[in-house]
Amino acid sequence: MRLALVCAGASLAQGADVVIFNARVTTLDPARPAAEAVAIAGERILAVGGEELVRAHGAGARLIDAGGRRVVPGLVDSHIHAIRGGLSFASEARFEGARTIEEAMARVRAAAARTPPDAWILVGGGWTPEQFAEGRRPNAAEFEAAAPGRRLYAQLFYRAAYVSPAGLAALGLDAQAPPPGLAFERGETGAPSGWIVGGVDAVAGLWDRLPRPGAEAARASLRAFFSELNAHGVTAVIDPGGHNLAPQDYAPLHALRAAGEMSVRVAYFMSAPEAGREAAFFTRLAQERGGRSDDPWLRWLGFGERVTFGMYNVEAPTAQDVADFERVARLAARHDLAVTVHWNSQRNLGALLGAMESLARDHDLARLRWSVAHLHDASPSAIARLHGLGLGWLSQNALHFAAPAFLRGLSAAQRAAAPPLASALAMGARVGAGTDATRVMTYHPFVALQWMLDGRTVEGAATRAAEELLPREQALRLWTQGSAWFAFAEREWGALAPGRFADLAILSEDYFEVPVARVGAIRAWLTMAGGRVVHASP
Ligand SMILES: [Zn+2]
Repeated sequence: MRLALVCAGASLAQGADVVIFNARVTTLDPARPAAEAVAIAGERILAVGGEELVRAHGAGARLIDAGGRRVVPGLVDSHIHAIRGGLSFASEARFEGARTIEEAMARVRAAAARTPPDAWILVGGGWTPEQFAEGRRPNAAEFEAAAPGRRLYAQLFYRAAYVSPAGLAALGLDAQAPPPGLAFERGETGAPSGWIVGGVDAVAGLWDRLPRPGAEAARASLRAFFSELNAHGVTAVIDPGGHNLAPQDYAPLHALRAAGEMSVRVAYFMSAPEAGREAAFFTRLAQERGGRSDDPWLRWLGFGERVTFGMYNVEAPTAQDVADFERVARLAARHDLAVTVHWNSQRNLGALLGAMESLARDHDLARLRWSVAHLHDASPSAIARLHGLGLGWLSQNALHFAAPAFLRGLSAAQRAAAPPLASALAMGARVGAGTDATRVMTYHPFVALQWMLDGRTVEGAATRAAEELLPREQALRLWTQGSAWFAFAEREWGALAPGRFADLAILSEDYFEVPVARVGAIRAWLTMAGGRVVHASP
């Protein structure tokens, strides 16, 4: 990459520190939708325009020749478990984009080679057997050949986990006496296959048995994961909390912020850590913190995505579950806090909406910017009900990996509209885009963007009707401004305009010009967050 470093000194008033030129800039700013250059002063955008910016500011600025590449606002993943995923990232072999088991096992071998012999090798989800040509999970022989004798744990969604023999010994797990809710899968001979299967909570509980990294290792791992997100053009995330993320697990993130080492802006929710004590936990949290924070790099938004255990992954919540949820949600509203709720299906959405309707009689939910995440099988009318209550919708590309599981039992017409992205936008609903990485989905944003455009599963099957596919600019808007609104950041993130943060990505290939089937392979050629280059291709 060619970077002309003309002057590294302090900028003059009105002078730019950096000018990106020779670019195809998509600003998403109606005042100037397209441009050729961006001038940056400090952490913010000074001007957006043409090559005249080089003449005006080039003498005192670092010039970055974009080589005719597309520049877009930094991407914002509005529902990614980035904190949890970041804490384990350095210990992980990730299967992102691997098309065969052999390719996946090569990543396990690489992780084994770069880590000490007694360290755990983790595969923390974000993959599906359907992505492999073999169409199945790796087996014990394959894992053992890739990492002989090593402690290895590989999780598949929240339904199964493989634990190597050395891993079983280290965790004290015995196939004759599995932990509650879990079963050791057995092969034809009756011997354990190494895969342990169970429900969501039981599999999440298995992960909780793994050792946590120390403070320094955790901070380094988070930093590495944020760099990885930068390499895909992501400059901000909203983290919903969830499984395997206890209140103390946020300490490395705060240490990273205190050290000035954030390269991704993080807005986050915190989840109730213990069933039956949700109201007590959140009451104390609200009192201690006294409302949302507005730090530009690390802001707490409120309660989510597990507000109460009785309304989290529960098929049929009782009246008491609904009442308990409403009590905690009212607490959030009184403290002006945001709430995001994990809700899988519209089948039982009535329970949640009942509580929200009660709340909406006393509070303006639109002003509080609350959201419901997932709802992969939502009908347009379900989204209309959310929107009518002032609730936003956070949509992710879960159907890319797991369409059969989510679409089972739906009619052809319902399948065609799932999820109803275009309908939601047509009705003016607030929609944020994201991945739900790193357990259930890959964190690659352009895989999710491609899915918004073509509605295809990882095997290539189209499940969504053409009417619910989005044009490219619309999808990009959801991945920037749409998501930013949920972090109360739509005036600072998500568009390239004077005064906004200089958060942007210069793309490896032109998002607007490549065939749709290639969108998922796009990476960032260079990424800037707060005016700082946080990723540059070699
Ligand atoms: Zn969730």
